[in-house]
Amino acid sequence: ESLDQGLQKTKEGFLSKIGRAIAGKSTVDTEVLDNLEEALVGADVGVTTTVQIINKIEARVAKDKYLGTSELNNILKEEISSLLVDAPDSGFRDFDTPAGIKPYVIMVVGVNGVGKTTTIGKLAYNYKKAGKSVLLGAADTFRAAAVDQLTVWSERVGVPIVKQQMGSDPGAVAFDAVQSGASKDVDVIIIDTAGRLHNKVYLMDELTKIKRVMKKVLPDAPHEVLLVLDGSTGQNAVEQAKQFTAATEVTSLAITKLDGTAKGGVVLSITNQFKIPVKYIGIGERMEDLQVFDKEAFVDSLFS
Ligand code: GDP
Repeated sequence: ESLDQGLQKTKEGFLSKIGRAIAGKSTVDTEVLDNLEEALVGADVGVTTTVQIINKIEARVAKDKYLGTSELNNILKEEISSLLVDAPDSGFRDFDTPAGIKPYVIMVVGVNGVGKTTTIGKLAYNYKKAGKSVLLGAADTFRAAAVDQLTVWSERVGVPIVKQQMGSDPGAVAFDAVQSGASKDVDVIIIDTAGRLHNKVYLMDELTKIKRVMKKVLPDAPHEVLLVLDGSTGQNAVEQAKQFTAATEVTSLAITKLDGTAKGGVVLSITNQFKIPVKYIGIGERMEDLQVFDKEAFVDSLFS
């Protein structure tokens, strides 16, 4: 799916909410701003980010004296873009790995059901397509389904997988995967982990342990800790991001399931609020449905 198609529901929701916010009004006045504030919060942009956007528009209204509601879409787009100028950007565009780092180890974390396994499959597909050799590590050893599903993805994409029996030590799987990848000189190793947020101390310990064990093979691994969030849960995804980033060091974010939801405004909220860049967005279930996130393209698409 294209970005425009993938964001269809969010776009429709967003534009219709803005339309309602200005219905029957010719100028942007306090009432319009109040309605707009409500519309943005309702579109999952989040209170903090919404207030910042409204403040910017308010300042603009004060400066320009008159703002017609017909211009509001463009103004909103400009102000959201300018708000995100300083937001983190992964700089990543073409599934290349950093020079001198091989294997490049990605540890993928996130709560069950958010689309972690699917995202790993999509990443493997994209790296492979970019000419990189890839190996998967099934360190979510608590759910048989997780290992099975990752195995299906490894077959679908055509990349090797390192796994052990269900219930085995996740650290041992991670160790094996990194060792095997290093000895085979693969470019990218992607490690799945269990995501059981209901026990935060446990989760933190487990992720710390997996990292520690990897470092026995490669001292600077993991090079990336990717947190996967389900965009269709809206502001809940923001809460999960807060909890995970408190539990372990996260270096990049993926926001999935944006195709089936009108809550895509959460991407603006997360981009604006976290110091960690959104690196990928998921806009479908197929392996082609992962996009490298580009904040400008995203805002453009929202208003197109
Ligand atoms: P995990 O438990 O976090 O590993 O989640 P899975 O990868 O198994 O995904 C859970 C469900 O979400 C599956 O049915 C996936 O096909 C679906 N899914 C994952 N990513 C996306 C996406 O970007 N869009 C849509 N529509 N579905 C997705």
